[in-house]
Amino acid sequence: MISPIFVSHGSPTLIFDDVPARDFLRGLGAVLPRPKAVVMVSAHWETHTPAVSAMPVNTTIHDFGGFPQVLYQQRYDAPGDQDLAARVAGLIGAAGMPAALDARRGLDHGAWVPLKLMYPAADIPVVQVSLQTHLGPAHHLRLGEALAKLAAEDVLVVGSGSFTHDLRSVDWRGNNAAPDWVTEFADWADAALAQGRINDLLNYRTQAPHAARNHPTEEHFLPLFVALGAGGLHAAPLHRSLTFSVLRMDAFAFSA
Ligand code: ZN
Repeated sequence: MISPIFVSHGSPTLIFDDVPARDFLRGLGAVLPRPKAVVMVSAHWETHTPAVSAMPVNTTIHDFGGFPQVLYQQRYDAPGDQDLAARVAGLIGAAGMPAALDARRGLDHGAWVPLKLMYPAADIPVVQVSLQTHLGPAHHLRLGEALAKLAAEDVLVVGSGSFTHDLRSVDWRGNNAAPDWVTEFADWADAALAQGRINDLLNYRTQAPHAARNHPTEEHFLPLFVALGAGGLHAAPLHRSLTFSVLRMDAFAFSA
């Protein structure tokens, strides 16, 4: 049994940045039971209907611009798992959300940055599942619920996003204290998770302070609902930190 987790992946430079969130992810792989495979749901793969990656060996997608060249040389050649991909698509389909296999989709940076820190040997098979951002939190909770069985099969379900994610306010050279509008949102979400207030969380855009400012678009918060759906309402905080003054790097494990 491996509890599903949500992690914040921050900037692609997290691989190199000397910050607490990098050190947390570096240690996390050794803290968790070793999974047979990882099912990764990253903010950076959005499709109209669910898709599941099914490559024999994953390729590395450098889906960012303007970063140092060394970042484009990073690879994460973890094996895929076509049987698991078919099973994942079947589970999602059985929950009423037809899912397609994608034999050409590699791992985006929301997937490979945390995985390279957690499992640098790249020897654990990885399958990625896409988001349907236009369908909002309730859909992603259901998507997670469809994957809940996998935890008992030693498959690690990971939602990879960002606890707060207003890129317009990112201070790439700064590491100041968070402004109130970031802290107030994060504190609200923390408390709602701690108290299992699922309806408030599902309606976070109207319930939480500064929700739309912290998440101008929803794709970096939705992976949290997948992990919650897969694991259950008990959220155990694993990590809390801040990068670039406004990006909260919080992580949680979810269980029933
Ligand atoms: Zn991202």
